[in-house]
This record gives sequence, C-alpha cells and structure tokens, in this order.
Amino acid sequence: MTKVLVPTICPYCGAGCGFFVAVERERAVGIEQMPYHPVGEGALCSKGNASLEILHHQERLTSPLKRKDDGWAKISWDEAVGLVARGIGEAMRDYGPEKIALLASSKCTNEENYLIQKLARLLGTPHIDNCARLCHAPSVVGLNRTLGAAGMTNPIPDIANSRCIFIIGSNLAENHPVVSRWIHRAKDAGAVVIVADPRATPTSWMADIFLQLSPGTDVALLKGIAHQIVKEGLIDRGYIAERTRGFEEFEGSVGEFTPEMAAEITGVPAEDIIRAARAYASSPASMILYSMGITQHTTGTDNVQAVSNLALITGHIGRAGTGVMPLRGQNNVQGACDMGALVEFYPGYRRADDPGTIDLFSTAWEAPALPTGPGLTATEMIGAAASGDIRAMYIVGEDPANSDPSSLSVKRALEGLDFLVVQDIFMTATALVADVVLPAAAWAEKEGSFTNTERRVQWSSKAVEPPGSALPDLEIICLVARSLGLDFDYPDAASVLAEINRTVPQYAGITRERLGKEGGLVWPCPSCDHPGTPILHSSGFRLADGRGSIVPVHYRPAAEGESLEYPFLLTTGRIALHHNAGSMTRRSPSLIGRAPDLFVEINPADAEKLGIDDGDLVAVSTERGETEAAARLTEGIKRGVVFMPFHFPGTNILTTEAADPEARIPEFKVSACRIARRD
Ligand code: SF4
Repeated sequence: MTKVLVPTICPYCGAGCGFFVAVERERAVGIEQMPYHPVGEGALCSKGNASLEILHHQERLTSPLKRKDDGWAKISWDEAVGLVARGIGEAMRDYGPEKIALLASSKCTNEENYLIQKLARLLGTPHIDNCARLCHAPSVVGLNRTLGAAGMTNPIPDIANSRCIFIIGSNLAENHPVVSRWIHRAKDAGAVVIVADPRATPTSWMADIFLQLSPGTDVALLKGIAHQIVKEGLIDRGYIAERTRGFEEFEGSVGEFTPEMAAEITGVPAEDIIRAARAYASSPASMILYSMGITQHTTGTDNVQAVSNLALITGHIGRAGTGVMPLRGQNNVQGACDMGALVEFYPGYRRADDPGTIDLFSTAWEAPALPTGPGLTATEMIGAAASGDIRAMYIVGEDPANSDPSSLSVKRALEGLDFLVVQDIFMTATALVADVVLPAAAWAEKEGSFTNTERRVQWSSKAVEPPGSALPDLEIICLVARSLGLDFDYPDAASVLAEINRTVPQYAGITRERLGKEGGLVWPCPSCDHPGTPILHSSGFRLADGRGSIVPVHYRPAAEGESLEYPFLLTTGRIALHHNAGSMTRRSPSLIGRAPDLFVEINPADAEKLGIDDGDLVAVSTERGETEAAARLTEGIKRGVVFMPFHFPGTNILTTEAADPEARIPEFKVSACRIARRD
C-alpha cells in the first residue's frame, strides 16, 4: 500500500512545528519527522506527537445539528445554513447589526480568520474578536505602542545566539517544549538564564537566577531591575539617544524604585534582582521571552511595556540574540490577530477607529458602510449577552464556556442569547448551549496558512477528508455569508490569500506559490521579491518618528488580594500534556491517560495547617463558585499561593473577570480563593 506524506503544521502551540502526516487508504496512520523545519528540526513534543488522535476520534461532529427538545437532531447543510441566516438575520432586523457578535478562531487558518472578520464587518458589527483576548491582547497593545509591531522580534532558533535569556511568566519547558531546546543550546554555549515565575517549574530548573515573585507583582520586579540598570550606568546611552524617545521621563519613574522596594512587593530578595539586572544589561546579547504569566493580568499591558523598556534602555533589540519574544499560545493566534480578528484592528493592524482604515477597506471590499471600532471584546460580548445588549452570536472554534473567567456566568449568558451558532470539531461546552452546531474540518482535513509565534507564515496541506459531512471552516463561512446575502465567492484558501496579499501590507509578498518552499516566510514581507524579515527593528521602529517608545509604567496591585475569607491567591496555567481549554487534548487517549484529573498545587506548610494530605480531594472556592480538585503538595509553590491548570472545566469557574483597562484581558493569574479538604 502506498504511503503518502503530507506536510502540515502542529495544531497546538504557537511554536508552529512542522511534520508530515503519513496517509494510507485515506486515513492518517502516522507522523513522520520534518528535519528541515526551522523551529522543530523534526522534533515534536508530546502534544504534537499525539495530534493525529483527534482526527479519526469517535466524538467528532459529523453532521450539522439543531436543538430539538432536550437533545439534538441531525440536519442537512441547507437547513443548517438557513437556520443560521434566519437566527442572525432576525437579530439584525429586530435589534440592528451591532447586537450581533462573532468570535474568530486562532485554531483556524489565516484565510478563514480573514473571512470571519470580513463577514462580521460586512454585516455591520464591530464586535469581532479572537482568543488572543485571553492570552496576548496586552502584547498587541503594548508592543504596538513601544516597538510599533505586535510580534516576536527574533526567530526562535536565534535564541541559541543569546548570551542572557530572561524568561518571565512563561513555563515554556512545558508549554512550548520545542522552544526550550534552543535555550539548552544557548546554555551549552555559556548563556545565563534568568527565570521569573511564582512557581518553580521545569523552566525554572534551567535558571541560573530564579526570581520567585508573588503573583501580580511583575511591574514591581521589572522596575526594580530597571532601577538597578540605570543606577549602575548599564544603559546603552548611544542607542537611547539615537533610537528611542521617552527615556528622561522613564528614568524619573524608576528613580525611587530600588531593588529593596521591589523586594518588599515581590518577595524576591533584592540581591537576586540586582544579579538579574547586571546579567541582563551587561551581556553582549540579551533576550526576553514571556508568555501569559505576565499578560493575563489587570496590569498585562504595563507588564509588556515594562519588558520593552528593558530592551530599549539596554539596546538589546534589533540584533541577533536579542529582542522581545512573546510566546503565543494557540498555533494561529498570531495570524488571527494579523488578519484583523480583533475589535481594535482591521487586517494588518490598521486601527478600527481610524476613518482612513474604514475608507481603505470600504474601497477594497466595495462596502460603503463598514463599522468603526473598537467593538466589544470576547469577554465583553459575554457580559453584553447577559445584559441583552448582544442578541445573537456566531462562535467559530472557541469555547468560552470553558475558557473564559467565571465560566458559570458565561454559560448563563450564552443560554440567554436569542440565537447562538457554534462551529467546531467536537461538541464543546459552548456548543452544548447552541441552537445550531456546524461540524468543521480539523487542521489536517483542509489547507491554508498558519502564522506561528515568530511571524512565520507556513502552508499546511490537506491530508485526509473530514469525517461525515463536516466541512472546512472556509467553506462554511462562505455558505453562511452567501445565505446572508453577501458575495463570498472564494473557491479555496489560495483565492483568499490572494486578497490578503492585496489588503495586508505585512503579507503582500507572502503568496501561495512562495509558501510552497521549506520554512515558509516571515512577515513583514512587503513584495514578491522580499525575503521576509526574521529580525524586526534592525534599522528603526514602525512608529511615527521611527524611534522605540520607552513608556513609564507604575506598579498597581492585582485586582484581588488575600482576605480573611479568601486567604490564598490562585494562579492558573498550562501543563505539558494538555492545551488550552482541553477540547482536543482531553479527547486524546495518550494525553488524558497520563494527565486525567484536575489538581491544585499547594505548599506543604499551608496544606499541613489545613489538614490536607497529598492526593486528598479538596474544594477550591472563590466569590464566583467552587470546584473540586486533587491536592498536589509541592515546595515549588510559595506559601499563600495555589496553582491549577486551566485545561479542565472546573478551573475557570473560579477565576476573576477583572480585566486590564486597555487590552481588556482578564486577570486569570490572580484570584483570591480558599481551600478546604473534602470529607
Ligand atoms: Fe506542537 Fe508546540 Fe509541541 Fe511544537 S512545541 S509539537 S507546535 S505543541
């Protein structure tokens, strides 16, 4: 039997590792290495290696469904699309287009995300967002403001060229395991590794300097480091003078923020803050990697800006081995943002509140009345659904009933909608409350481009057919759009990419033909003869005066603190064997078999006071609800802090809706809670 090898991209994290799906008799039968892939070099982590387990899974959605009595009825695509057109059409007619909202999917291709946001805007609603709101919205806001581009500045393999790697708020050894290979390579060449995290993790095991800070105190830590760098004259005066603006005000803002003051707030010894400051500032090439540990805060944007500040004052940017590296969570969350599936931006990060943007897309799309943004964010849509300000939603490949904070109230809000359509590959918690469910193809059952966390755009080919009558998201979106009277005539992903080439300047030269080559292309790629831009900001910043912007930030505590009633701080995150809300990894036998249950990490001294032993079932409660988890005692977590992974439905019952005032990301990383042993 002939075995065909089809090149594709891992459906999980933003590292975007490539591999071949081996296909026999129209079934995906195995994975073959892609040794030339620039990030993974053929390596995959446990999630990537298990990714085929979801393709032929018996729980895949195989037919459109409509709610019937207490259950579901299988229906034809004609009936399903008709119901969607009626549900959305009635909400628009009765209440106006601004009463509907759409959620795009960072699991979908660039072409699909482009079409989803275009559909929303052609319908007249500004409410289009994606799950970046839950992970890296502060990177979009903070990096655009300070550096003029919302992307990782350097390629992942360039980590090996760094001589000091500062990892803050990222357990990349578990969450982006293939990235950690490059850190080991740098360490082998003598690099110093600094890790700042409230927990000791497999990432902190790599650290030469480990800064175990209290949750929500990142700004204080970064200001303490900046103070020391300025005080010791470790700044790059030439770079500051020639390439940046705002240093004088910044210098004033850190003047009194000594390491001792930072130590008081963060719980990190002042001498470790000083060591970290010296190591970062004085190395010939330093790089900062960060992830949701600093973005999922009410101070998320400030945290990102404080990171940029360190790079700008030391000149550690725009060169090999330097830069600011946000590690994006989902495999196409970067692309979903690039494509304008965000309330603040049309495609290519053109501001949605700029009349010039509206004019430009009105012409490009031949649409005279496009909505001005920003609209309601992903989490604000849910609040608006609860209050009746949003009446209908179209949710593609997202599961807010599991992934949003205070998830019990999210479910109630979704149940209250006049009409909800969910498009996904499995029956998620969100799909369970929908009126209509549309079965979508998984990544290897369709083709299109994905953009990884280093801005690398890669083409993923179709390996197998989707199950039953499931369809690629692109086809479904076109069906729905046409049923709503729009002229969505896109025969394939390549035809959408051709439009993206015309409307998104960063992707102008990233054509279907060029994506056929190994390793894809890294944006910005402004023309068909441009090689792409692996390192950003080498010769200036895409800001008005070409200078990087150093922005003073001020420490604010997290929205929730310990109290008599809720004496612990709950922080949440990921583990190696699961991904995001778990809709795929919890169905993957080899992953769920090794990590089957929700757990809560507790410091042994706290556990002893509460009479809790390792493995005991405990109740974790916050103002929003209660959930059960198995106690896991570990010295790796500070006293007074507990940790739960968010891949299981129980965790986000607990988390707070308090959000960053600019990026409007919820503060998943700090919720006041109490713990009690279940008898
Ligand atoms: Fe997939 Fe990320 Fe693992 Fe690579 S590191 S195999 S992209 S989950």
